[in-house]
Amino acid sequence: MKYYDQHVHTNFSFDSNEKMENYMKLAGDNFVTTEHLEFNNPDAKNNDSIPDYTKYVAEIERLKKQTGKRIYKGVEIGMSAGQEDKIKEYLAHHTFDIKLLSFHQDGKKDYLDDVVTHMDPLKVTDDYYRLMWKGINAFHDADVLTHFDYGVRKLNLTSGQFSTTAGVLLTNIFKIAIRNDMAFELNTKSMYKYHNIGLYDYAIEIYKQLGGKRYTIGSDAHEVSFYEDHFRDAVEMLKAHDIHHVNVFRQGAMTVIPIDDVMEDI
Ligand SMILES: [Zn+2]
Repeated sequence: MKYYDQHVHTNFSFDSNEKMENYMKLAGDNFVTTEHLEFNNPDAKNNDSIPDYTKYVAEIERLKKQTGKRIYKGVEIGMSAGQEDKIKEYLAHHTFDIKLLSFHQDGKKDYLDDVVTHMDPLKVTDDYYRLMWKGINAFHDADVLTHFDYGVRKLNLTSGQFSTTAGVLLTNIFKIAIRNDMAFELNTKSMYKYHNIGLYDYAIEIYKQLGGKRYTIGSDAHEVSFYEDHFRDAVEMLKAHDIHHVNVFRQGAMTVIPIDDVMEDI
């Protein structure tokens, strides 16, 4: 089986206007979207951002019939303090093939908001990984830990600053992720739009040395032009770390795909 982007948004996410059907020309035989579930979302006036599941499933069924492709259901769970019960309740009643776990916000700000750039970067970093550490202890029922660097995307940290401030916390966070079979995501938006390649080189090694064996590549596309963006570069990074496979997730099953099969494809 071929690899396909494991992190994609459409207009079922609060921050995307892209229609699912627009991805169909680019998608191979398999396709998934991962829509935002973000309770108490500061980027939506602290309302709950919840995908319209009924319409989502209907659109997938419509496009499956129209295109003959296999289309899977996904969710990007935004975990924030105190929201774990609502998240668990939602997931008990809605099924997905893949569940991403993300940390975007602290109840007051999203870490991509401009206000972050006016704060002390090392304080922001420390706060963010404390929040992620607490959060992943409270909730870890997911397949993939996404963009581990989301909270520092706007900070331009060196790997040295990052490791000194966040290294111990990140190591402990990865231990919990690995214990719960969560994959490490190479988020190509973080790596190539926010220039955090250095942090990914650093973090992959930690995850790998702790015994982590699952990897996904996700573009985090919110529009079609970013679908599978920079995947070749991400594959080269995995190879440089002596990692020769990636994983895909579907309801109840994880598949290992040799990395050379990914190369054929993109
Ligand atoms: Zn996303």
